[in-house]
Amino acid sequence: MSPYKPRIGFIGLGNMGTPMSRRLLEAGYAVTGTDLAAANRQRLAEAGGTAVETATEVAAGSDVLILMLPNSDVVETVLHDGGVAAALPPAAVIVDMSSSEPLRTRALAAKLAADGLARLVDAPVSGGVGGAEKGTLTIMTGGDLDTVAELADVLAVLGRVRHTGAVGSGHALKALNNLLSATHLLATSEAMVAGQEFGLDPSTMLEVFNASSGRSGSTESKWPNFVLPGGYDSGFGLGLMLKDMRIATDLADGMGRPSRLGSRAVDLWSEAYGELNPGADHTEIARWVGHTS
Ligand code: NAD
Repeated sequence: MSPYKPRIGFIGLGNMGTPMSRRLLEAGYAVTGTDLAAANRQRLAEAGGTAVETATEVAAGSDVLILMLPNSDVVETVLHDGGVAAALPPAAVIVDMSSSEPLRTRALAAKLAADGLARLVDAPVSGGVGGAEKGTLTIMTGGDLDTVAELADVLAVLGRVRHTGAVGSGHALKALNNLLSATHLLATSEAMVAGQEFGLDPSTMLEVFNASSGRSGSTESKWPNFVLPGGYDSGFGLGLMLKDMRIATDLADGMGRPSRLGSRAVDLWSEAYGELNPGADHTEIARWVGHTS
């Protein structure tokens, strides 16, 4: 007899949700999902999942309800509208894998528990679309340890779990990670632009940075894979990165430890967001630096 596999509900089948839900299907899980975009629902159906039109229908048959949505506003709307949380079977777990706001996640978990509706774990990820496709995401789990342990087999299909503490802690760490990542990418882009102006070859620059103390995810992956080839196609929107940076700087402010460099990076990224098209990939910050510096 095959081992018990919880029924998975998946809400948010975008750049990340589509490859993640596909991996779960390939691992033998039954996945029912939805998305506002009909084309994304269609992709789930083509991959062997059950696509439905409403989040309430997803919730009704889900032991584990995964959310991969843009932000806390959407997460809260989806859970409250149409009685989604109330439609979940008893003992279901909601796993918010979106990059949401830690304090709102904490409050949401408390409210769901007080209403006797569902347990909530935050499990945001790092590793991008490539990591989602390969199942190599870093998954930052915040929540009760026993509940996280129940999710171990499901999450192992998607990546490697690092438990970060109480509910909301995964979302806090994820935002801080992206503030670092965005600041690195901006600094790398300024260095690359100045170096090329001087006459340095960009590939040589990256090779030397990667063998030196200036290396980061931006020099090892973002510039060589998405900027230098000119595709600007990482699949992570600039607006989403800016949202994460603001979550991190708000967190720092709230802790009475304002991030002075981070706030300046937010200013520059928001300037870029205002000048580029709203759907721009976050790696377009490099092109923007090239045009404006
Ligand atoms: P995306 O915009 O591609 O996907 C979000 C999906 O949510 C869209 O398909 C949208 O139609 C759907 N959606 C929005 N409102 C909805 C609603 N009310 N009901 C149902 N569906 C709804 O974004 P993404 O890149 O997949 O990112 C999802 C989350 O993961 C974000 O919080 C992002 O910050 C985070 N994240 C993204 C990446 C990346 O590389 N793309 C990496 C790590 C974390």
